[in-house]
Amino acid sequence: MSNPVSELRADEGAVRVFAQYERDFTEEADVVVVGSGPGGAVVAKQLAEVGWRVVLIEEGPPFTPDDFELDGSISMARTMREGGLRTTQGTFMPTMQAICVGGGSLVNSAICVRAPEFVLDEWCNSYQLEQTTRADLDPHYDAVGEFLGIAPTPERVLGKRNTLFRKGCDALGYTSEPISRNVRGCRGSGECFTGCRSRAKQSMDITYVPAAIRDGALVLTSARVEHVITDGKRATGVEGRIVAPFSGKTSHRFRVDAKVVVLAAGCMATPLILMKSGDLANRSGQVGRNLRFHPGVAITGFFEEVVDPAFGATQGYHSLQFLRDGYKLETLWAPPAILAVRMPGSGHELKQRLAQARHCAVWDAITSCNRSIGRVKIRRGSPNPDLIWHLDPGDVKILAHSLYTLAEIFFAAGAHTIVPGVHGIPDEIKSLDEAQILRNKRFHPGDFVTGGNHSFCTTRMHGDPARGVVDEFGRCHDMENLYIADTGVYPQCPSVNPMWTGMALAHRTAGVIAAEH
Ligand SMILES: Cc1cc2nc3c(=O)[nH]c(=O)nc-3n(C[C@H](O)[C@H](O)[C@H](O)COP(=O)(O)OP(=O)(O)OC[C@H]3O[C@@H](n4cnc5c(N)ncnc54)[C@H](O)[C@@H]3O)c2cc1C
Ligand code: SF4
Repeated sequence: MSNPVSELRADEGAVRVFAQYERDFTEEADVVVVGSGPGGAVVAKQLAEVGWRVVLIEEGPPFTPDDFELDGSISMARTMREGGLRTTQGTFMPTMQAICVGGGSLVNSAICVRAPEFVLDEWCNSYQLEQTTRADLDPHYDAVGEFLGIAPTPERVLGKRNTLFRKGCDALGYTSEPISRNVRGCRGSGECFTGCRSRAKQSMDITYVPAAIRDGALVLTSARVEHVITDGKRATGVEGRIVAPFSGKTSHRFRVDAKVVVLAAGCMATPLILMKSGDLANRSGQVGRNLRFHPGVAITGFFEEVVDPAFGATQGYHSLQFLRDGYKLETLWAPPAILAVRMPGSGHELKQRLAQARHCAVWDAITSCNRSIGRVKIRRGSPNPDLIWHLDPGDVKILAHSLYTLAEIFFAAGAHTIVPGVHGIPDEIKSLDEAQILRNKRFHPGDFVTGGNHSFCTTRMHGDPARGVVDEFGRCHDMENLYIADTGVYPQCPSVNPMWTGMALAHRTAGVIAAEH
């Protein structure tokens, strides 16, 4: 296994942490990469490997297994922006973005799926892209997949809530498969969300970031980039402030001068940096616009048998059968605290339901809501953005339909009761007949309990510089040496979990940078 960031820190001095900053400072680099999530980490490693002097800047701190908190709410307060309580305005929806070395990869479920051919064809056709088909991206998916050991979840760590999902799909003739994940030696502890204590999850902090460091990269943690410095059409570096972990209190100033600047701060933060840099790279007017999510909905199902939903690979099984209908079905992990929040009722009623917690499974759908569009805006006096987003009534049907399909799978797998958690229908449904209400009722956007942790499109790629911020290789149309390498560059929802596609695109962008500068 690769050395974690923390091991490299002491002996190589290549990772600076908050306690080590004593004064304002300046660094020089060939390339400065902003953000150590899946996008930025790949670019940093690929360029360090070919001999570039890389400075990788990350606003969050590094975490080690000793820092992980199993309690979900404590963990979120430490690893997530706004303590994990960030939400959209317009249609209310929670959305989580990590703030730590490794970005979303530290807290995500390690699900790795290549974007389907039909989605990438649609991107190419609608956004004047010429080299972003699945065949174009496959070599980049392969390179990342090999480095991270991406492979299907083995049977021995699936646990019951994953195998019951397969049973339901098999009974209905729906395709399903074990999820491919970036893990090595997963024990099925179901803790991916609060950090993998066994270091099986191949998050960026133990893979790409240490690899970049071994090739000479300097990593500045607890350092927030505030803006890009420019000279005409060239970016000459970035400036920012040191930020105390968790409190967000700012202290020393820093500047990094570089020949090339890569923004990979995530789809919410990269547009903010551009806006705060004098509306940089925004001749198209698209910076911060087009915000899209995969809103997720979930159902809890109760079985006679013991399921023990907290155990098994965090998300181990999925069905890709309904991607063209706009949704993907997955198993979800369910620690007791999350179950308590999802259960309807209070007092005695809630107690009765919680007594059945060992007998339930939670499965979810992520939906491609391409009609539901929003915007990232500067929030005055805050480093955080305002997120305006509306769930389009046309997309509401996708949510309802996906829940009905989950209901089918639950009953086919032997569930006796399901709890869909949708406003305006019974709390509990006990048969597929009763579940027809999910197909027949007219729902409103506010009726669903949704969460949107997959976010995209705020600096979208487009072949036409008047309609997009970057081209398909991540080059900012308006600048000679400014690149973007996070999920903000997607032109639409990828329809599957976004991390691997973001890394494949970042891998390609790194190659383009190395070739052009
Ligand atoms: C709970 C959860 C579960 C998920 N599960 C999956 C999954 O299983 N599979 C999957 O494919 N996707 C999953 N996702 C989504 C996936 O993690 C993200 O799509 C992915 O991390 C995006 O990568 P990124 O590099 O674009 O941005 P990020 O991962 O957000 O990384 C951006 C980094 O930049 C840093 N940064 C931001 N602003 C600044 C600044 N001004 N200065 C310096 N640094 C800055 C951030 O702190 C962060 O570390 C999940 C997300 C969450 C939250
Ligand atoms: S399920 Fe457990 S062991 Fe496996 S990757 Fe997630 S946290 Fe690590």
